[in-house]
Amino acid sequence: MIREGSIHIPFTYAAGRAASRFLVVLRDEGRILGSPCPACRRVLCPARSFCPRCGEETGEPVVVDPAGTVVSFTETAAGVFGLVRPDGADTAMLHRLLPAGAKWTIGARVRARLLPERTGSITDIEGFEPLEATEDHA
Ligand SMILES: [Zn+2]
Repeated sequence: MIREGSIHIPFTYAAGRAASRFLVVLRDEGRILGSPCPACRRVLCPARSFCPRCGEETGEPVVVDPAGTVVSFTETAAGVFGLVRPDGADTAMLHRLLPAGAKWTIGARVRARLLPERTGSITDIEGFEPLEATEDHA
């Protein structure tokens, strides 16, 4: 026998130094931060305190471009999710690709679409949309 249900589990999560700064700058300035690793010289995005490859503490955050490249994606019932490497970063961040009905390809050029009213959440980035669509409105 299988019974379906759900459990509501409230929690509080301390984002930490680098992720907190990432979220505050995203909310207040609408910019995306990455963290440079002093050892391997990669810029990690989203910003983080330590390089997962080297274990080194990262340096002062840098602003990366809201435009980037789709390096991978998957289609789900909830939409299309992609790994997007912002220009100026060496790693990719997971986010929605908009619109879900578009024909997505690896290598597609995209730009972050930010919510006008931001709260300090990764979902302040509504998703990444084709770069051509944003240029039409520039
Ligand atoms: Zn590193």
